[in-house]
Amino acid sequence: METTIFDKILAGELPCDKVYEDETVLAFRDISPQAPIHVLVIPKEKSEGFHNLPEKEIEYTGKFFTAVAKVARLLDLEKDGYRIVLNHGEDGQQTVDYIHAHILGGRKLSWPPG
Ligand code: 5GP
Repeated sequence: METTIFDKILAGELPCDKVYEDETVLAFRDISPQAPIHVLVIPKEKSEGFHNLPEKEIEYTGKFFTAVAKVARLLDLEKDGYRIVLNHGEDGQQTVDYIHAHILGGRKLSWPPG
């Protein structure tokens, strides 16, 4: 797998605005926020994208998504709501080949997405 910017953030080689970390995930603010709150959550054990999750143990997937929910709770987004986005591949506009969940909130988000 190619080394990505998120590998470097996880390794501490590049800085990030960290909001949460545990043994499973690292969560940090997106460098180009698309909403007042825009946080990325990455698992410490790498997958390239959402499509690759079936190659992983169910436990891995469960821990990842449980951590995403935990970060959303920490961000206090429950009352007003929020969106979780996982882009995959070219048409999905994935630009970093390291699986990551976007947590977007703090404004009314439009639907359908563009
Ligand atoms: P994707 O388009 O792959 O779903 O999302 C990648 C996200 O990573 C984008 O929202 C982009 O702004 C963010 N991003 C790219 N480079 C960096 C970086 O160096 N630091 C942080 N915090 N976010 C980044």
